[in-house]
Amino acid sequence: RGGKPDKVIPFAQPGNLTKVIGVASGKGGVGKSSVTVNLAVALAKMGRSVGVLDADIYGHSVPDLLGLGEARPTLVEDMIMPVPALDGLKVISVGMLKPSRDQVVAWRGPILDRALTQLLSDVFWGDLDYLILDLPPGTGDVAMSLGQKIPGSEVLVVTTPQQAASDVAERAGTMAHIMEQRVIGVVENMSWLEHTCPNCDEVHRLELFGAGGGELVAEALTDRVGYSVEQLAQIPFDEALLAGGDRGTPIVDSAPDHPAARALTQLAQDI
Ligand code: ADP
Repeated sequence: RGGKPDKVIPFAQPGNLTKVIGVASGKGGVGKSSVTVNLAVALAKMGRSVGVLDADIYGHSVPDLLGLGEARPTLVEDMIMPVPALDGLKVISVGMLKPSRDQVVAWRGPILDRALTQLLSDVFWGDLDYLILDLPPGTGDVAMSLGQKIPGSEVLVVTTPQQAASDVAERAGTMAHIMEQRVIGVVENMSWLEHTCPNCDEVHRLELFGAGGGELVAEALTDRVGYSVEQLAQIPFDEALLAGGDRGTPIVDSAPDHPAARALTQLAQDI
């Protein structure tokens, strides 16, 4: 420690009014980034002031999911100005700090920790109602750093209905608890596919990836943390969510009547 004063993280100061939520998952590919982005957009559409910090060093897909392309933050004096997205959303991604898109970030431990501090303290977030962080999958360094830096931060755990995914999600939640972060609940993603039967016109739920993973994680976490952790949402597999992600137009904005969009908007209202 070279004698420099510690950086000030506004969200860690007494009287902070911003709700800081880390979105965690045990493994990649369960839809953590999609949930982060759609939750943030849904909150912004409700008139909340929302920041998104993409701290997923392995994926950093948030800018693409929001259609931000190669946008880079600007510097004003020594503050980093977040990139504006739809509905007043403010976005920063670790990917925006890389000189080129193709460069692999091989940050570890202390450097990663410093990068997170910088994104929390040197970015001009302004007054936020919510700061939502897309955490790297697993029980890694970044989730632990967040717990240390912002003791009042909370964690939302995303899983699929699959047993294997729910086991690792539970570990991520347990780690959050050890870091004294409150676990606000579990989101089960890709819960089913709504399918209209061509013969009888009834809508069936096809459980593509099994069933019960979200409830399992919620129950296991409840046992560990000593308070009730609930499954807050089940989000169906929805082709429009996938297409919206590819196009950079989040489904809660571009197709709000779709099943997944309705579930995500409800989640934003409940959180
Ligand atoms: P993670 O952040 O956990 O790695 P992503 O959010 O990047 O996961 O999602 C992985 C892939 O699955 C993406 O292509 C995304 O569009 C797709 N996806 C996520 N959730 C759904 C869903 N409910 N319905 C359809 N596709 C989904």
